[in-house]
Amino acid sequence: MEHIIIIGNGISGVTLARHVRKLSDKKITIISAESDYFFSRTALMYVYMGHMKFKHTQPYEDWFWKKNRIELVKGYVEKVDPASKIIHLANNTTLSYDKLVIATGSKPNRFGWPGQDLPGVQGLYSKQDLETLEKNAPNNTVCQRAVIVGGGLIGIEMAEMLRSRKIPVTFLVREKSFWNGVLPNGESAMINQHILAHHIDLRLDTNLKEIIPDEQGRVKAVITDKGETIPCNVVGLTAGVTPNIDFLKGSGITLGKGVKVNRFLETSVPDVYAIGDCAEQHEALDQRRPVEAVWYTGRMMGETLAQTLCGKRRAYNPGHWFNSAKFLDIEYQTYGWVFSERNKEDHEQHFHWRHPKENICITIAYHKETNRFLGINTFGIRMRHEIFDRWLNQNKEVDHVLTYLKDANFDPEFYTQYEDAIVAKYNAEHQKNIDPKKKSWKRIFSKA
Ligand SMILES: Cc1cc2nc3c(=O)[nH]c(=O)nc-3n(C[C@H](O)[C@H](O)[C@H](O)COP(=O)(O)OP(=O)(O)OC[C@H]3O[C@@H](n4cnc5c(N)ncnc54)[C@H](O)[C@@H]3O)c2cc1C
Repeated sequence: MEHIIIIGNGISGVTLARHVRKLSDKKITIISAESDYFFSRTALMYVYMGHMKFKHTQPYEDWFWKKNRIELVKGYVEKVDPASKIIHLANNTTLSYDKLVIATGSKPNRFGWPGQDLPGVQGLYSKQDLETLEKNAPNNTVCQRAVIVGGGLIGIEMAEMLRSRKIPVTFLVREKSFWNGVLPNGESAMINQHILAHHIDLRLDTNLKEIIPDEQGRVKAVITDKGETIPCNVVGLTAGVTPNIDFLKGSGITLGKGVKVNRFLETSVPDVYAIGDCAEQHEALDQRRPVEAVWYTGRMMGETLAQTLCGKRRAYNPGHWFNSAKFLDIEYQTYGWVFSERNKEDHEQHFHWRHPKENICITIAYHKETNRFLGINTFGIRMRHEIFDRWLNQNKEVDHVLTYLKDANFDPEFYTQYEDAIVAKYNAEHQKNIDPKKKSWKRIFSKA
């Protein structure tokens, strides 16, 4: 029986295993150095915040794996030898495979800052990082201030976690406005205000220069590039992630930033594949990045590769870009492409609406000449994924999107609706007379 070994039990490896099992009887082994069972990485923050226990982050019961004949091995893979189709584990055991899938995810970036390896300095990625944070920052007596370095989605999560235990947080962000390499200016400005409103000491346009130890060798302060010394007991390094692939050096598998793969998620070596955060496309698809360190990508790649491994060779074709996240208590969704001022092309025009008092806003991107709808960002309003997918597929114009925007609203019943106000602003700015249509379930569920 063909043996598929998957290194990594994250969303990509586990999705692959589940789908291979649905489609075949192949022998499946998943190896992970991190945890006995699959857990939801995106839920780690809620464990620290006391909303759930770690076991609640595990979507499957412990018996699920045996019942589905998916063998789990806890161990670290040190070396892959594609010539003999053998992998070597740190405990000196070896395993042989017919097909090997690398799904080893990411690791937090460390840019060689002096003091970056001191006790008290940590990233937030793994179950072990969560345990370390519990030790480093159990309360605001042990941790009287934390400094977080790097203004992305993980940084803001870490700030929220620490604030939930009333630990003072200073947040060093290199950019002049939060996440403004990704978000348009209006949205980024709203998040700046929201961070400050949560009593997080946000320092924009500020870099970490050095981390200083105390007499015991633990972190005691950071020095910024502005020459300021900030005393702290914990430093969170959240300046992005990099594919976790060091163990593959010398294996003969072509590596770039990640494991190089073609559209079929095949590496340069026969019978070896890579999926999820650690995979790097030779050429980026559409406007995506060659490495996509997001949860949905891992899941889609796992589903796609399962087809190939079970005899139906299939290319990774993720469709329109979408993602969701949370900035403290503001929910964020994005469908299609809305680029920041820094990254957008000349033809990309934005329409922005922001609620006068609440942290609610949207930005719609469209083509300046053709008026084609390109994408939407929403903050504080939930929208329906399938509707935007449909409008993007059908190359709808921005006026159509505004006319039928109520169809896209996915907020629960009795939530305040803002579409009339949004369209009124659009009409005023564009000298238009769009009359927003009432929500129609018939239209929403029509296949067209
Ligand atoms: C705190 C946090 C919040 C996030 N929030 C979001 C979000 O809101 N939305 C979103 O889209 N994404 C989010 N992400 C990113 C998302 O979690 C990742 O994109 C996703 O988990 C990647 O899945 P993966 O299966 O590729 O890898 P991983 O989940 O990283 O799994 C890889 C596994 O392989 C193991 N491994 C690595 N090397 C070896 C080896 N040599 N031997 C054995 N095992 C090995 C690792 O220990 C790990 O268990 C978040 C990430 C973090 C850390």
